[in-house]
Amino acid sequence: MEQKLFVYNTLTRKKEEFIPLDAPHVGMYVCGPTVYSDVHLGNCRTFISFDLIFRYLLHLGYKVRYVRNITDAGHLEGDADEGEDKVSKKARLSQLEPMEIVQKYTVDFHEVMKTFNALPPSIEPTATGHIIEQIELVKAILDTGYAYEVDGSVYFDVEKYNLTQDYGILNGRKLEDMLNNTRTLGGQNEKHGKLDFALWIKAKPEHLMKWPSPWGVGFPGWHLECSAMSNKYLGHKFDIHGGGMDLMATHHTNEIAQNVASCGNNPATYWLHTNMLTVNGQKMSKSLGNSFLPEQLFKGEHELLTRGYGPMAVRFFFMQASYRSTVDFSNDALEAAEKFYKHLAKAAKKLSALQQNTLVAVDGEAESAIIAACEDCYNGMNDNFNSPKTLEALNNLSKSINSFADGTRNSGAVSAETFDRMKKTYNDFFYDVLGLKQDDNQSGDTEGLLGLIVDLRNQAKVNKDYATSDKIREGLKQIGFQLNDNKQGTTDWVKL
Ligand SMILES: [Zn+2]
Repeated sequence: MEQKLFVYNTLTRKKEEFIPLDAPHVGMYVCGPTVYSDVHLGNCRTFISFDLIFRYLLHLGYKVRYVRNITDAGHLEGDADEGEDKVSKKARLSQLEPMEIVQKYTVDFHEVMKTFNALPPSIEPTATGHIIEQIELVKAILDTGYAYEVDGSVYFDVEKYNLTQDYGILNGRKLEDMLNNTRTLGGQNEKHGKLDFALWIKAKPEHLMKWPSPWGVGFPGWHLECSAMSNKYLGHKFDIHGGGMDLMATHHTNEIAQNVASCGNNPATYWLHTNMLTVNGQKMSKSLGNSFLPEQLFKGEHELLTRGYGPMAVRFFFMQASYRSTVDFSNDALEAAEKFYKHLAKAAKKLSALQQNTLVAVDGEAESAIIAACEDCYNGMNDNFNSPKTLEALNNLSKSINSFADGTRNSGAVSAETFDRMKKTYNDFFYDVLGLKQDDNQSGDTEGLLGLIVDLRNQAKVNKDYATSDKIREGLKQIGFQLNDNKQGTTDWVKL
């Protein structure tokens, strides 16, 4: 590869050149969803960010094994060793089997990811499918002396581990600080230290999902599954480990400790973390009433939304920020993203029909603008997957495409090589790397027909023929199209 890829590594707190352990193979593990409720938008953003990373690595020619787990057991309500298992609780409240809950929300999650045009991972292992591996891992940690058993539960001894290792290596914090800032959590009367965490938890009689083990009937601690499954599918050392930033301080910190204690090393070279979503500047949360599901966003069914936004516009909106920055949802920002997305999508459509004219005198300025924009597409992504930079470069390329398509510039004014490079780079980045596609609702015949109907309706309004204009509006609504009106008339429409 001619250009170097740099990634921001949480572990070292700096940008580093990406050098895989065994190129062209790359191993990437991303913590997946806990399938007990509808996937929320913050999670979607994380998985879309890693989809972008996965796609770019594939584009660079790497053979990527992308493992993203499904947590279907062991994730307790408090995210620590307290409360009820999230899946079990939902099953109990819904009077269903836990596996019915898991099935429903796994299928829903896959559908949402497909709607966002995210590629499926190479392997999607589940916690319940790897109980044996998790038990073996607990045994290995007991063998090295970093865990202890108390009445059927097994805990990781953080303070003992920290005598020879750096427990806070990922977030750069000292053990004393962490001890001072930790509240007392579940199982505390059994734990030797405040930061100790459960590897195996003894099941109460009413607990729904439990398995036999050398320590009695129980279930694995939440952090254990990711160590067990990454070990199994990517080996003891692999390239990238990712997840949401909220997982860094505890879940990933504990994962590293488990791996070091069982096989002697931190599992991943590069640790990547995605930032969170905010709504009008506030953290998105159910209790604040500003949280909505992907489906609500597509349909505009929330009091904070003035209308719906298609999945590609939302995907585009996420990519307008770097994965490490927060993203703030607002109607204005979504509207701007949709407009920008449509602009680039239109250029992609024009490009597919664009043929080069016979070469005339080469226009040096046009030629170098295209070459620079093509290089900038790569420069953006090579700079820690900086998608906003790449979008800007695509925008610059779209200017050349539009000028050739509308005839303001002769496409024969650039060399055939540069013309082909423009075509290839634009298509590669728009479709393959950024994972965008033409919005089916607004392509081809449908777009043309809707445009014609909207024109007729605007004309009816000008003629004060409100009966016709209302009839068109209602008729379209019944077949699933909503017109968006503003002072200038109807300017846009969405598929409901
Ligand atoms: Zn995990």
